[in-house]
Amino acid sequence: MAQIADVIIIGGGIHGASLAFHLTKRGVKPVILEKNFLASAATGRSSGLVRMHYDLELESRLAWESFQYFRNWDEMVGGDCGFTRTGFLQFVSPGYEAQLKANVAMHQRIGIPTFLVSADDVHRLAPHFKTDNIQIAAYEPESGYADPPSAAKSLMEIARQRGAKFLQDCTVTGIQVKSGKVTGVATTRGNFSAPIIVNTAGAWAAGVAKMAGVEIPVDTWRHDVIFIKHPLGMGPSHPTVIDNPCSMYFRPETGGLTLVGLEDNNPIGEDPDGYTDRAQSGFVERAIERICQRIPVMEKASLHSDHGGYDGISPDQRPILGQYGPQGFYLQCGFSGTGFKIAPAVGACMAELILDGAAKTVDISPFTPKRFEEGKLIKGEHSYEDIWH
Ligand SMILES: Cc1cc2nc3c(=O)[nH]c(=O)nc-3n(C[C@H](O)[C@H](O)[C@H](O)COP(=O)(O)OP(=O)(O)OC[C@H]3O[C@@H](n4cnc5c(N)ncnc54)[C@H](O)[C@@H]3O)c2cc1C
Repeated sequence: MAQIADVIIIGGGIHGASLAFHLTKRGVKPVILEKNFLASAATGRSSGLVRMHYDLELESRLAWESFQYFRNWDEMVGGDCGFTRTGFLQFVSPGYEAQLKANVAMHQRIGIPTFLVSADDVHRLAPHFKTDNIQIAAYEPESGYADPPSAAKSLMEIARQRGAKFLQDCTVTGIQVKSGKVTGVATTRGNFSAPIIVNTAGAWAAGVAKMAGVEIPVDTWRHDVIFIKHPLGMGPSHPTVIDNPCSMYFRPETGGLTLVGLEDNNPIGEDPDGYTDRAQSGFVERAIERICQRIPVMEKASLHSDHGGYDGISPDQRPILGQYGPQGFYLQCGFSGTGFKIAPAVGACMAELILDGAAKTVDISPFTPKRFEEGKLIKGEHSYEDIWH
């Protein structure tokens, strides 16, 4: 006998947890099926950057709505998401200053606290930075980073208190479709039936979609990071930074550490079950060389640790959100390495789409899975080109 649920969510990362949280807020009781354990994949490996600077208005809106959760987590969700305000700087490559100005103006129209700063201002905010390849930057004084596993845990915990069922060590092996509608799933822990199934399977999303007879253009994207220990006597830490001229991002971490990730050479198409406990060969050296270009004093830093992770990436590096294929089958995937900071608002929007037929928190219709076959790939209004290259 299949167990019956209102909605089946496949994947217990931040997106499965956020959707469960928002569905249960409306009295709907989902079952969330996770093949491993909560936040065991991209969410558990995420760098957790929380900023609103995007070159696409809709993503900035999703990030801004989500920011209301991060900064009022206990009130809006309950518990703690580890949000740490560090300030955020966006550096762009030479030649992209006009786009930066236009994007900051767009963010200010949304209401995001952000403004342009000069290279001298950057130097005042972060005295250790070399600023010779920067004329201007965008600054978000309220932004920072959060702790993704804690965020997923509190969203899932509240969802469970409201009646959601979360099953771990439970792999979905098949999706049943009858007369063009999804009816349930087969798993390693028995069968479940529901008229609505949501694919929040991250780097495994294409394989899960195939179980419903649907091809989706989600590939796997591997991303490695390092933590380095500041040299003795470095003094104050630094803001969180996306540093396009150096093809990198970095942020402070407690304990006198800095986390560094690179925008280039993130392998596409690998097996998402690959080894991620350490970064791939050669990455540590490249990341250290890169951070020393921006913060020369880091030449005296020491390696603390390194790891990798896999997310799903779409052809335009933007999320894939909406109904697709059999009736009742929804996609909430393709987050392309930037999906943590928008997860609260995306969960709210997907719950609205599923229950009301359209999202009202933010219009997510441009993220439709149909855009690829219609040739309507998304590009930022004042584009910096692809984040990952
Ligand atoms: C190293 C790294 C750093 C990142 N840094 C940032 C950042 O700074 N800021 C930011 O916003 N984003 C960042 N991201 C991206 C962000 O972490 C992801 O977009 C986000 O966590 C995706 O969440 P998810 O719930 O969709 O996927 P996941 O967390 O990957 O969850 C999907 C889950 O589905 C499960 N699953 C798969 N197949 C099945 C099946 N058949 N049956 C049952 N369960 C299944 C998996 O076990 C997994 O737990 C980073 C990603 C990585 C890898």
